[in-house]
Amino acid sequence: MATVASSFGIEEALKELGVNETNNGTSTGKNWFSSGEEIASYSPVDGKLIGKVSATTKEDYEKVITTATEGFKEWRQLPAPQRGEIVRKFNDELRRLKEPLGKLVSYEMGKSYQEGLGEVQEMIDICDFAVGLSRQLHGLTMHSERPGHRMYEQYHPLGVVGIISAFNFPVAVWSWNTALAWVCGDACIWKGSEKTPLTSVACQNIAARVFSENGAPEGISCLITGDYTVGEMMTKDERVPLISATGSTRMGKIVAKKVAGRLGKTLLELGGNNAIIVTPDADIKNTVIGAVFGAVGTCGQRCTSTRRLIVHEDVYDKVKDAIVDAYQQIKIGNPLDENNHVGPLIDKDAVKNYQNALDKVVEEGGNILVEGGVLEGEGYESGCYVKPAIAEAKNEFEIVQHETFAPVLYLLKYSGDLENAIEIQNGVRQGLSSAIMTNNLREAERFLSVAGSDCGIANVNIGTSGAEIGGAFGGEKETGGGRESGSDAWKIYMRRQTNTINYTTELPLAQGIKFDL
Ligand code: NAD
Repeated sequence: MATVASSFGIEEALKELGVNETNNGTSTGKNWFSSGEEIASYSPVDGKLIGKVSATTKEDYEKVITTATEGFKEWRQLPAPQRGEIVRKFNDELRRLKEPLGKLVSYEMGKSYQEGLGEVQEMIDICDFAVGLSRQLHGLTMHSERPGHRMYEQYHPLGVVGIISAFNFPVAVWSWNTALAWVCGDACIWKGSEKTPLTSVACQNIAARVFSENGAPEGISCLITGDYTVGEMMTKDERVPLISATGSTRMGKIVAKKVAGRLGKTLLELGGNNAIIVTPDADIKNTVIGAVFGAVGTCGQRCTSTRRLIVHEDVYDKVKDAIVDAYQQIKIGNPLDENNHVGPLIDKDAVKNYQNALDKVVEEGGNILVEGGVLEGEGYESGCYVKPAIAEAKNEFEIVQHETFAPVLYLLKYSGDLENAIEIQNGVRQGLSSAIMTNNLREAERFLSVAGSDCGIANVNIGTSGAEIGGAFGGEKETGGGRESGSDAWKIYMRRQTNTINYTTELPLAQGIKFDL
């Protein structure tokens, strides 16, 4: 039988992206140094070894940071629109390589091919955004209290930006950060997830080629590879003024402490525990579509995945029956086959966490509505395919309070007023994405009001999952408080400077202070 890799054109994709069986970062011009131990990347799709990548050692890291620091000094002098022009060229390459890169994302991470392409599309979109932004890095001017003075603020590049990213969006999160940081005039060092090292290599190959062909200095886009110890090299390093870290809350707490200890800046994008409130005025058909996609899409491995469905008692049975029915239609299997809705979890540890969550919810008194389980047999050889499950539960259960990165949906009932549902929705430590399904304008506005959702993202009549690059993305509380992507998220990649210019022959002091000599 043909392997998944050959039947879905993975080998051709790897070739086109310049990803080999073994990859190391000692070759010149790539801005990637790694000569340490090899990390093997196995596909969760079929369990096969895709390739190996060597890890960055301490000595390698020194070369990277030196190259990036030196490159930054030159890059910051280039006018921002010219930096934007290089990002535009990088984007041309992304457009050309969208299919192979989307395929590799799907094969290495396990999300559907459509979602893999969608992720590359997000990269393309943020680059477009960044090109426009390169002509709009504006500050404000304000009136001075002193006569003959002009006051304004301006933004300068920050320096070397360290990016640490998670396995579930192996390419998009990097580009959300880099595309903006590049036009802002920064150099970037990226440590991708050790679970998806080949997608990082593929992206770095594209960036290094485009930067070098366009005369950009060495070191503007650098890659370091390996596990958390490699990430720590950056979090400890005073030469890296900003660390943008995406991943678990556990990781974020460690990184935040380390970077704050040296008074560096952090941009944290951490775990979520997202809910949809379903009121008696909800459109049930749309609720089911939004909730099912939110709970099982990417096999429940999105930071914005729907984990809790908070349903009013008047429509509870109707919603429950419709969702349980919809789950019977879900096809689980190879994510490169477009007939399947749900692919595998990332690895066997994730499968264990999923099983533990299902055991725990029963232990705590929950009621399983749709049984879970690990799939076996032909097509499921990787051992990472699981059945999306639903359990009736209570918000105060310890397991419901916790983000399980798997397709487990908790059904929670509320009665009475919308305020009760909002209290449940806000009654978790995380604060990333939230939604309400209602055709009642008053309910929608109350959900969005100051006493409504406490999340970074609050949607009406859309699910929790997915976001457009034009808005600032991120969440509150244990989600970390960071914002990246659109709106004014670019400001974190720059330092603000307030300038006051005196064009008189006198030297008046502020606040009317006299200092006569
Ligand atoms: P993870 O925390 O295990 O790892 C994320 C990254 O952090 C990896 O590159 C890892 O090597 C690195 N890392 C871990 N410990 C570190 C340390 N002490 N110092 C430096 N680097 C360290 O997360 P994961 O399993 O890859 O991803 C899943 C998690 O990411 C989920 O919690 C999910 O909600 C979250 N996530 C959040 C967002 C968001 O935008 N809020 C987006 C994607 C994923």
